[in-house]
Amino acid sequence: MTREYSNLIGGETRPAADGRTLGSVDPATGEVWATIPRSGAEDAAAAVDAARAAFPAWSALPAPARAHHLRKVAGVFAAHAQELAELETRDNGRVISETAGRDLPGMTYLWNNAAAECAAAAEGRSVDFGPGSLGVTRREPYGVTLGIIPWNSPISTFSAKAAFALAAGNTVIIKPAEQATASTLRVGELLREVLPPGTLNIVSGLGEEAGDPLVRSRGVNKISLTGSVQTAKIITRASADSLKPLALELGGKSPNIVFADADLDKAAPGVTTQAIFTPNAGQICYGGSRILIQRPVYAEMIARMKAIAAEIRLGDPLSRATTMGPIVSAEQFERVTSYLEIGAKEGAELVFGGRSGADAVADPAYAGGYWVEPTLFATEDNSLRVCQEEIFGPVAVVIPFDTEEEAVAIANDSTYGLAAGVWTRDLGTAQRMFRALETGTVWVNTFRKVMFPLEGTKDSGYGHDSVLAYTREKAGIFEI
Ligand code: NAD
Repeated sequence: MTREYSNLIGGETRPAADGRTLGSVDPATGEVWATIPRSGAEDAAAAVDAARAAFPAWSALPAPARAHHLRKVAGVFAAHAQELAELETRDNGRVISETAGRDLPGMTYLWNNAAAECAAAAEGRSVDFGPGSLGVTRREPYGVTLGIIPWNSPISTFSAKAAFALAAGNTVIIKPAEQATASTLRVGELLREVLPPGTLNIVSGLGEEAGDPLVRSRGVNKISLTGSVQTAKIITRASADSLKPLALELGGKSPNIVFADADLDKAAPGVTTQAIFTPNAGQICYGGSRILIQRPVYAEMIARMKAIAAEIRLGDPLSRATTMGPIVSAEQFERVTSYLEIGAKEGAELVFGGRSGADAVADPAYAGGYWVEPTLFATEDNSLRVCQEEIFGPVAVVIPFDTEEEAVAIANDSTYGLAAGVWTRDLGTAQRMFRALETGTVWVNTFRKVMFPLEGTKDSGYGHDSVLAYTREKAGIFEI
């Protein structure tokens, strides 16, 4: 029996106005397990009205009162952590050790942190212009903010957008991704009990049907998108008429650079499991999918990576023994597997992996799922499509290098600039690389410790989610 989920609009859970639905597919089996509303312009308009109606009261609340509500939200995430983790795993295939072990505990922290920052959103500056003349600033919320989220980590991305915007006094509309919406809609049901009606609204459906009218609405004052470069360009054009401020957190092709002096016991798992394959089967924006290895340790690193990858277990995402889940949808599966052919045609050498579908998973119960095994190509040519394009799956490429300058040149030869990893014991190398790499984040001797801001350069976007980013500064000059 399929489960049914509803939108959250004005404090009520509702189906789409015209009753249409979309099926939600379990990517581990390929079977529909839930239905979600297929919303349209009428639902978008209702959400905007509800958020606008709730704004005056929510924005007028003193910071401690808003913080009180957000701490209650943190409590909901703590109380329902296991349920939400299992739901998200079912919905998008992200393994339970990630959703229950990392995401949900992180959400309690994130919402409590947003509560603590409510006061910062209320802080202004003062400038003394001399006797009788005082300048002050106050931070004001934008009004109604729209968070458009992707499918790869819905609860985390939902929280980053909703918590900081609410903390700053905005009311919020969230548009989840059609491939994985159920966990966000369940969060909406739960938060109805602790947030005033209309403060948070969730509208599910397709980007062009449910997202586009929200993007164009004059009742929406700021948009934060986490998604692909292609969608970012569409949204930038669609929002141009109303000149909305945007924050765009987009894709990546992060270099993960191993110098010969690195501690290989750390670097080998650091580039293999921490950075690319096991976190969400490579469906991760900052995944270190371009692995650069200095030649003296190239062969040793490849041998170690092979051994680590051989231990990765594909199968039931709800089992703690499973370390890598499926690709989220049939469409993404086609996309990811097309790169297996592209890599081979371009002349990249297949180091390991390459199998997909039922051949990639041992348990026949999951033969209908969208499986791709951890795959590594090797090449010396960073201009290949497998080196330049975001594959968004467990397909990485390894490139050898000789000098630090060469590593910087290869790393920066990308249209993306989200994140980079550097593995070295030399503090000088680490500091020079930190400066030279054209990315928003540089991890040294670690990968994937996320620190906000998670902001990109180049086609990885601009702007990020934080309490201050959801406010604007208003100036007042007072003369007596
Ligand atoms: P996507 O761009 O296809 O979709 C993202 C969201 O945009 C979805 O909710 C979708 O419905 C919506 N959308 C699509 N067209 C729209 C339109 N015309 N108007 C309004 N909304 C529209 O991205 P995806 O496939 O869901 O996610 C994968 C992408 O997200 C990858 O490129 C990945 O790198 C990126 N990502 C980035 C980060 C980050 O923090 N930088 C995090 C996770 C994922």
